[in-house]
Amino acid sequence: MLSQAYLEYRCPRCGYINAIARETVIDMYKEQSDACQHCQQKLEIIAANGINDQINLIVSEQEDSAK
Ligand SMILES: [Zn+2]
Repeated sequence: MLSQAYLEYRCPRCGYINAIARETVIDMYKEQSDACQHCQQKLEIIAANGINDQINLIVSEQEDSAK
């Protein structure tokens, strides 16, 4: 696999494949907040080092604090 400008992650709620800029998660190295492009679920994305210089994205649903 070539290095990609975007990393893909699956929405845990609806299964839609979203993309996030690689440099965004690499630079910050902390929780990112994003919303699913499909169901608008707020998501928490954490980048972690995987094997072979791969980046694992750990995605979880964020509680909606509006209610
Ligand atoms: Zn979704």
